[in-house]
Amino acid sequence: MTPAMPVLVLNSPFLPNFSRPQRSPAVTKSGTLYFPLFLAQATALLEADGYDVDLLDAPAAGLDLPAVIARAERQRPVLAVIDTATPSIDADIAAAAALRRVLPGVFTVLVGPHASALPEDVLTSVPGAVCAVARREYDATVLELARVLESGPATDARLAKIEGLSFVDASGAAVHNPDRPYIEDLGALPPVAPVYKRHLDIRRYFNPNAKPPMVTLSTSRGCPFRCSFCLHPQTLTGRKARYRPIEDVLDEVAWCLDNFPGLRTIFFEDDTLTADRTRCKAFCAAIGRRGLRFEWTANSRADLASDLLAAMGRAGCRQVCVGFESADPTALTSMKKGLTAARMERFRADARAAGIKVHGCFIFGFPGDTRESIMATIDFAIKLAPDTAQFYPVMVYPGTEAYAEYAARGHITAETWRDWLTPKGLHNCVVRNETLGPRELVRLCDLARRRFYLRPSFLLRRAVSSLVSPGEMARNVRAGRVFVRHLLRGSQV
Ligand code: SF4
Repeated sequence: MTPAMPVLVLNSPFLPNFSRPQRSPAVTKSGTLYFPLFLAQATALLEADGYDVDLLDAPAAGLDLPAVIARAERQRPVLAVIDTATPSIDADIAAAAALRRVLPGVFTVLVGPHASALPEDVLTSVPGAVCAVARREYDATVLELARVLESGPATDARLAKIEGLSFVDASGAAVHNPDRPYIEDLGALPPVAPVYKRHLDIRRYFNPNAKPPMVTLSTSRGCPFRCSFCLHPQTLTGRKARYRPIEDVLDEVAWCLDNFPGLRTIFFEDDTLTADRTRCKAFCAAIGRRGLRFEWTANSRADLASDLLAAMGRAGCRQVCVGFESADPTALTSMKKGLTAARMERFRADARAAGIKVHGCFIFGFPGDTRESIMATIDFAIKLAPDTAQFYPVMVYPGTEAYAEYAARGHITAETWRDWLTPKGLHNCVVRNETLGPRELVRLCDLARRRFYLRPSFLLRRAVSSLVSPGEMARNVRAGRVFVRHLLRGSQV
């Protein structure tokens, strides 16, 4: 019997605790580290087809590039699939180059938002490092590529048949094959949870919105809303929501509960779990019918009816992560949010009534935002009083409408991709608007955090929750240690 073809699937080393898979990749103040959900899904598909995959999450495992290369030298992969993000793209390409130096035969394919948005740059910036880019939703493209490599040489003619692939041809030119249609039948994808079990240590992953230990699953891909800054629907998952069969999702949940002892939360990392409210209600009803008792967190829009929130609460939803973004009508219109401040207030009240905690996100610096409108948004955030909140300058990434808009106006202030992060890896402001520069936007975010988190009612609530629940205390301490330091020092711009 021929041994299975080895494949390396790599979340490559960059900064310690760099959370590459999140929508806005960075080292975070709360110590958040996302599961490599999309890489795990590609791994599941490759393993189901018989490939011998090493899924290596270097930031989570604390591995540097020499350690990754040493492991790859032992595995000798034929194909290396490497994730990308805008701030780490130079390191991502450097990882591909290092692999090709020690294993000249390895075929390197880069995937993820940055490679999808700028395939030509990624293919050509370091000659010989990157063999191909699998654009947008990449699982099926990577699987087809593996089959092509297994069955013969990687000639231009054979690579040219793979939809969704960009590659460097024999003359050194970049060739872009037609897009691959999105996978309509998500039920055809194998579950990711067994991949987590085989390849990852779930205790390494952390999200302050989910009690640890937690795992991240998805029930859908894509989002029909059109928020101009939102990265994944525009570079990976598409603007049409596609759904996994509910029973498949719940089989995977049941598997997690059986196979991860002590598991406390499942984070449904759909672009928006609540995009289709009828389906979300059916999902909650099915949890009840199956008698599954577990706590979960999800990304949600701030426009759910009270009865849906009540159904989610009954089904175990303990927290939702919500993009409120702004209270300013001009900013909300310019980012195409499709929500009003009044609707958000109703949502907040209904979530409170349903016993669901809310993590609110607020973004400053959209076209039309002024110092006054941002101060009004800070007042609004305090009045809305989500249980936790984050405030950050608008982060624009290649491939999004927002990036194109700021670039066209000459409002991107960053000079290199690395400038998307501070030297320590925290989010950096890379834009200005008509009236506010990047330093002022960062200072307003610092002010918002101080006003929100140092208000007596918030501190009192946190103290009470820590006293009532030891688990809550541990989570508050873990998330709070780094955060408080940043809160007091500010961003030092
Ligand atoms: S609703 Fe949420 S997931 Fe959908 S585009 Fe807007 S920010 Fe992105």
